[in-house]
Order: sequence, then C-alpha cells, then structure tokens
Amino acid sequence: MIDRMKRKGTFDVYVGDELFTLERTLFLRQSTFFREAVKKAEDHLSKGEALEPIDLHDESYASTAKPEDFAIYVEFFKSGDVAIPTDENTWVFLTRFWALCYQLGDFTAANRTMDAILDETKEKNITPDLNDVIEIYAFRGLHIDCPLKRLIVDFQIHEPDDLLTEPFNERPDRHYEVFIDFLQDVALEFRSLARSNQPRGRFLGDDDLFKQRVSTRDKCRYHEHDDDHPESDCTERSSGEDSEEA
Ligand SMILES: [Zn+2]
Repeated sequence: MIDRMKRKGTFDVYVGDELFTLERTLFLRQSTFFREAVKKAEDHLSKGEALEPIDLHDESYASTAKPEDFAIYVEFFKSGDVAIPTDENTWVFLTRFWALCYQLGDFTAANRTMDAILDETKEKNITPDLNDVIEIYAFRGLHIDCPLKRLIVDFQIHEPDDLLTEPFNERPDRHYEVFIDFLQDVALEFRSLARSNQPRGRFLGDDDLFKQRVSTRDKCRYHEHDDDHPESDCTERSSGEDSEEA
C-alpha cells in the first residue's frame, strides 16, 4: 500500500548515472518540462504499469546537465535558496544553474537564481567576462531573447569589455559564429534604446544610457513570466513579507 502511494506521489529522473525521486505535487507544479514529460510517459502506460524513469540526458537541451547541479535544484525546493558550491566561480555556476532551471520550464527557480546573479554582480561590482558570455551564447537551447542573454547584452552596452574590440582573426574559430550572434544582439539592443528614448534628431547621450544600466533597472526585466509563474508572484515577494504559504 505504501509502495503504491509512493509510486503515485513521486516520479524518477535519471541525470547521468544518478537517480532522483521527486515529489509530483512540487515538481510538476513548477516545471513545465516535467509536467509534459510525465504526462507523455503516463499516456503510454497500460493499467497497473509503473512509470519509467525520465532520462534528462535524452533531452537534447538538458543533455549536459550535471547531477551535482540537479541535486542543488532538488534542494532548492526544500530550502528556497540556491546553494552555491564553494569550489566554483559564483557567476559561472549561477548562470549554468539558471540555464538548467530555465530549460526545465521552472521559471520560479530561474527567476530566484537571476535575482542571485543580479545581487552577486551588484555586490562584487563584477561584469561578466566576455569568455563566459561566449559560453552562454554557445549554450544549446537558449532562446535568442531569453533573460540571461538580455542581461549580458545590457552589460556590454553599458560596460563594454575591452575584448569586444579585439580583431576577429585572433579569435578561435569555434567561437566566431557565436560571437557574431552576440555582436548582432548588442547592436540591435543599442538601436532600440537609441530609438525609444530620444526625441527626433537627438543622439543618445551618456546620461540616457547610464539610466539604463543593469543595476538601475527593474529585476523583472531579467525574469521570465508565464501563466504558471506570474509576474504578481515576484511583486509579492519583493514587498518584503517572506511568505511561504502555498
Ligand atoms: Zn519578475
């Protein structure tokens, strides 16, 4: 009886060699990916058959997910915090972790991670290293206008990396196309800023540009919201009350 209850209340996920057992109510509510994957698996079940584990590495976009990162994701549900490994560069870890949450369709976790990224960059006054930026652009499955790309484009507009002007022919080949994509996004954003903020015939001034810096913008610009993860959730959270009621 207990075993059957357990089976009904949980589902299993393989990440590499590691098997995770997750609570359905929690994870299916937050993750669009798991909701669809479990539904698809259940549709193929005959009566009384147990659900096969979902293999995260079968999904092309999650094929590089690390079991250690996934364990931190699971832990996130218990503590509500992202436990940053002490032996890793915080920025590199957080951006990779953000991509995992985002691709699982768990925008609650992704947005919370984004807040940690924004706090980290503000606190330590760091701007993303261009090499890390290229890594992010090269990351498979990240949508062109996803919040993380928006963030690093904004950084480059206001605090450009010296490497940005480095001659193309000194770049490793494998990064060439990725770098062009990135430059294109920076140019497009710059043009849209210049158009949206200026009266006719005026050029974009330094002051206007300064007002659009990452640190002065609303955090929500770098969040992802949909019907399951509405914007009202984060306005509530930022009002100060630490409400954990479900
Ligand atoms: Zn938001």
